Amino acid sequence: MTVDLRAFPELLVCHVFQNITLPCHLQVDKHLVDSMPAYPCHSCPGHCTRKGTRNGVQLLRCGACGRYQRASYANNACAPGADKRIALYTKEGCGIRSIARIMAISPTTVIARTRSIAARLGPGFVAKGRSYEVDELSTYTGNKKNRVWLAYALDRKSKQVVGIRVGKRSKRMLRPLIETLLLADAKRICTDGCDVYRSLIPEGMHAVKRFGTNSIERMNLTLRTRLKRLGRRTICYTKSLAMLWACAAIACWG
Ligand SMILES: [Zn+2]
Repeated sequence: MTVDLRAFPELLVCHVFQNITLPCHLQVDKHLVDSMPAYPCHSCPGHCTRKGTRNGVQLLRCGACGRYQRASYANNACAPGADKRIALYTKEGCGIRSIARIMAISPTTVIARTRSIAARLGPGFVAKGRSYEVDELSTYTGNKKNRVWLAYALDRKSKQVVGIRVGKRSKRMLRPLIETLLLADAKRICTDGCDVYRSLIPEGMHAVKRFGTNSIERMNLTLRTRLKRLGRRTICYTKSLAMLWACAAIACWG
């Protein structure tokens, strides 16, 4: 018996795209399957057509960008939009393990993805001749004896973060951050009274004054609220500097 599956579109989609075998008394007309509407591409506005199978899973190929994709994914980390979800959960106060539980993927995958997402991010266009605020936020890696700082610079007008550094509070750590601001022809750089800044910032440009770092101090609060690893009095903490930088980059630029 041949059944016209156009009357049962959900059944047809299950059969074609999720490779679900139909009962033997239902025979699908091959021409009908081939004439099915194209599958939308995950990477571009184009549409995909069926292009073979791998391990029993239907493969699709986009007619516009040429990328291959699967009709269904057994591995949740490979599904389209996984990176976006990891970045979103990171910014909403989820730790590595909570993201792994929510998305049903491994914590090591979350760590690897977080680092690769952050590596693609940056401050974007930095306007010249602006005033900046620079401050550092105290945290630790591994245990509380090993204190590290997350230093960053904020454009006072646009509130854009233009650079992030992590490490010990030293000239070596802060110099690249200050040099970024000097290259952007900074009009004024406001900091707290920490001695390290005096040797790095030219005297006429440096400002240590009351209310000078209000915006960045408020941003520190936002980061502590949104990034799980920066929360105080919790058992969540950073194990590596690279991950601290990656999560800060996602929070500021993601
Ligand atoms: Zn495409």
